[in-house]
Amino acid sequence: MLSSTYSQALVACSLLVAIFASYTALDMAGRVATAQGREQHWWRIGGACAMGLGIWSMHFVGMLAFSLPIPLGYDPLITVMSLVIAIIASAYALSLVGEASLPWRRLVAGAFLMGLAIASMHYTGMAAMRMSPAIQYDPGLLLLSIVIAIAASGAALWIAFQLRQYSTRVRRLRAGAALVMGVAIVGMHYTGMAAASFPIGSVCRAARDGVNTGWLAVVILIVTLAVLAIALIISVLDRRLESRTAVLAHSLAEANEELTYLALHDGLTKLPNRMLLQDRLKQAIHSASRGNTRFALMFMDLDGFKAVNDAYGHQTGDRLLVDVARRIAESVRGEDTVARVGGDEFVLVAKIGAPEDAASIAEKLTTAIEVPFQLANLELRVSTSIGIAIYPGDGASERELLANADAAMYHAKSTGRNCYCFFEPSMNADVHAQMQIIQDLRLAMERRELVLHYQPKFDAPAGPIIGAEALIRWNHPTRGLVPPAQFVPFAEKSGLIVPIGEWVLDEACRQMREWYDAGHVDWTIAVNLSPLQFAHTGLIETVRNALARHALKPSSLTLEITESTAMANVEVSLAILRQLQEMGVNISIDDFGTGYSSLLYLKRLPATELKIDRGFVRDLSQETEDAAIVSAIVALGQKLNLKIVAEGVETTEQQAMLTELGCDTLQGFLLGRPMPPTQFLESVEARASADCE
Ligand code: C2E
Ligand code: CA
Ligand code: CA
Repeated sequence: MLSSTYSQALVACSLLVAIFASYTALDMAGRVATAQGREQHWWRIGGACAMGLGIWSMHFVGMLAFSLPIPLGYDPLITVMSLVIAIIASAYALSLVGEASLPWRRLVAGAFLMGLAIASMHYTGMAAMRMSPAIQYDPGLLLLSIVIAIAASGAALWIAFQLRQYSTRVRRLRAGAALVMGVAIVGMHYTGMAAASFPIGSVCRAARDGVNTGWLAVVILIVTLAVLAIALIISVLDRRLESRTAVLAHSLAEANEELTYLALHDGLTKLPNRMLLQDRLKQAIHSASRGNTRFALMFMDLDGFKAVNDAYGHQTGDRLLVDVARRIAESVRGEDTVARVGGDEFVLVAKIGAPEDAASIAEKLTTAIEVPFQLANLELRVSTSIGIAIYPGDGASERELLANADAAMYHAKSTGRNCYCFFEPSMNADVHAQMQIIQDLRLAMERRELVLHYQPKFDAPAGPIIGAEALIRWNHPTRGLVPPAQFVPFAEKSGLIVPIGEWVLDEACRQMREWYDAGHVDWTIAVNLSPLQFAHTGLIETVRNALARHALKPSSLTLEITESTAMANVEVSLAILRQLQEMGVNISIDDFGTGYSSLLYLKRLPATELKIDRGFVRDLSQETEDAAIVSAIVALGQKLNLKIVAEGVETTEQQAMLTELGCDTLQGFLLGRPMPPTQFLESVEARASADCE
């Protein structure tokens, strides 16, 4: 037998190449697993080439390290064939590792195929020497080398599959795994070499016409290392890009989630909003109709919330709402939905067995909210009115259910607050009637069915007339003359009050111009402003235009706003009222004594007149405490330099008493009812001639 020797440097090189190739292969396996679409395809091809080249060159460098005392060479064709085998085996390995799962059976089959491929690459590479006589192989060692190849392949496949996901920890594990795999591959190679023996007198037929060894080692080493390095660099760069994209995608997803949450929840109380409620209601209807079960829809509206807001400001109001929301949420079960659907309106959707369950839930809610709220050093009390609609029965769609629960809630409010009401079909009639009124009212404007009546205002005690208050009426085609209490609230609710109010202002100014021209130059005309009108941005412009159109001086006009309107949002009111005052228009605080005026604010309000609420005048004659209130209001008004008007004067006793208490102006049925303009002048003239007699 020929004795063989090994170049130790090249053996070390072959080990290095094997480890490096293994690391690259594992890295490529990770890329194949995480890449997508066409990209994955390219990673698979590139990875297979780099890895195949790596394994093959390890083998080839190992061969070059080997020398016999005869000249050696390698047949190029067979050598290239062994490279092709290595690349195909690598491609197969990468495709296995790229799968979503790697069951045991597939792993074992893969290990076998790959091990055999590597072994056949090795022995094909040996065959490239074209020895004559043929190389003799020790069967035991030959088998051992194949077993090592299969075992190493199995381990490599399993490790590569486990380490597909990328992380810094994986990088270290991968380096360790590459070391083990590299040693295994080298082990297989040198076991295979140990199995081979070359009889004395052997000739390497490839040495003559084949490629010579010396310089080839260097070229192959450099090319292989370069290819592997480039593959690794591309992989690392690409992964950086990918991970940065992943970070971006993640934050985008988070932002999206946040936006969805915001769109579906109320910002203040964090409860679901109307949109999410509608969705939950739909689901509730769906599951109740399928499972033959019941649920209750409760519409809750706080009583007295507006007063808290007005008196203590929006911040306190907001904090109260948050606390109310918490109490509601604590009073119901986790699976029930509580939503905030408006300022102080909440809706509860709760599964129930029988209608009595709804009653007990409503009872629980009203008692929970009745308990005073402790906000900083304030103790606040509110209550809630609840309307209940039950599915099935009180509506088929979420819209219908909501409308019916709302109608029931209104009913609860009107029957005295702090209570609950189950929906009844008759309530719906109210809603329909309301909608009809609003529709009719719209037509009424076009058909000029709205008219103004005028009630005279007198210098106390009995004249002369100093002006009139314009009071609207609806000359309804079938219902006759409709008083404002029956339609102004709906006009307010629907927003129609804004155009109606503009018309009132214009018509009253037109009438005043007529009286002015008839010689009543020192009269003033009073016009009522509703809360919505008062808050409307176009108010100042509307007033200015009306005055200009009828060439009236601003002091001929008095605008009446109720005390609660003026106090609803004090700062805004102050700003609007100041502009009106600067224009020269008179301002009257109507229904005074019914709201919660703080004296501090009253002092700052640029008003010219206080109108004592009719309620205090009504019982005046009976010497009740109302007399004390009126006298206090008069004293206050005088202090603030305001004219005091008493309205609702019906008896001579009231007339006398109010005069004695110090009221400047009187208005009431006793002295003159509201009447159409023609009648108004007639009555004034009749009075004047009566005075003359
Ligand atoms: P208000 O501003 O307090 O108007 C005074 C109301 O008291 C009028 O009722 C008037 O007819 C009534 N009244 C006058 N003297 C007496 C009396 O001696 N005894 C009794 N019992 N009542 C008397 P009316 O005309 O029904 O108006 C009711 C409310 O409707 C008004 O209350 C006002 O708030 C509102 N309103 C009337 N016209 C308009 C309008 O053009 N625009 C707006 N926004 N609201 C209006
Ligand atoms: Ca009034
Ligand atoms: Ca009034």
